[in-house]
Amino acid sequence: MRLIFLGPPGVGKGTQAANVSLKENISHISSGDLLRTAVDAKTEIGLKAKEYIEKGLLVPDELVVKIVVEKITSAECEKGFILDGFPRNLSQAKSLDNTLNESGKRIDKVFYFTASEDVIIKRIAGRRICKSCGAQYHEMYSPPVNDNVCDKCGSELYQRKDDNPETTSVRSKVYKEQTEELIDYYKRNGELIEVNCNGEKSEIQQNICEGLHSMSEDEKGME
Ligand code: AMP
Repeated sequence: MRLIFLGPPGVGKGTQAANVSLKENISHISSGDLLRTAVDAKTEIGLKAKEYIEKGLLVPDELVVKIVVEKITSAECEKGFILDGFPRNLSQAKSLDNTLNESGKRIDKVFYFTASEDVIIKRIAGRRICKSCGAQYHEMYSPPVNDNVCDKCGSELYQRKDDNPETTSVRSKVYKEQTEELIDYYKRNGELIEVNCNGEKSEIQQNICEGLHSMSEDEKGME
C-alpha cells in the first residue's frame, strides 16, 4: 500500500501517518523529518536545506526528491509507505510518478486532510516533539505523562523552530501557492479521499480507516 498524506502544515498529517504506519505495518516517510535529520547531521543536503526550513520556504526540489526517492526505493519501503509532506508541488509529484512508474508501481490513495484555521494555529502552537524518537505531543490535547518528557523513550521534548507565528504564516502561504494545486492533480490522477480533522481523534481515525479499505474506481471496474 502506497499512500500520500496531503494537507496544510499543522493539520495533523504526521500524527495520523504515525498511527496508520503502525496499524498497517508500512513505513512512514516524512520529508520534513528526513530534512531535519540531514540538517542535524550537517550533511551536504542538510547544510543547503537549513536556511529554507528556517524561513518556512520549500527546499529546492532536487534536494528533497533525492532523499525521498532514496528512501522509497529502499528495502524498508518494499511493503509500502506513507508519504507525509511530500510531494509539495507539481514538479515533485511528477518526479514521484516517474520513479514509481519505473518499477511498475503507483500511488494507491491520497488522503487530503483539512481543518479550520483556528484549529491549525492551536495545533502548531502547542506541538512538542521528542528529540530522540520524534514522537509528537501537544501541550493541551495530548500531553506527555511527565512535563516535557517523552512517554515512549524518556527523552526531552522540544518545539520546532519553524513553529513560531511568523514562519508558520510563511509556510501557510507557501502551501496555498505551491501545494494546493496538488489536490486537483490527484483528483484527476488518482483517488483523493478528504478527511476533516476538526473533530475527535477517534472520528478522524475511523474516517481514515474507511478510506483505506474503500475500493478505488479501478478496483470497482475490475469486479
Ligand atoms: P514539515 O515537517 O513537513 O512541516 O516540513 C518542514 C520544512 O521542511 C518545510 O517548511 C520545508 O522547508 C521543508 N520541506 C519538507 N518537505 C518538503 C518538500 N517536500 N519540499 C520542499 N521542502 C520541504
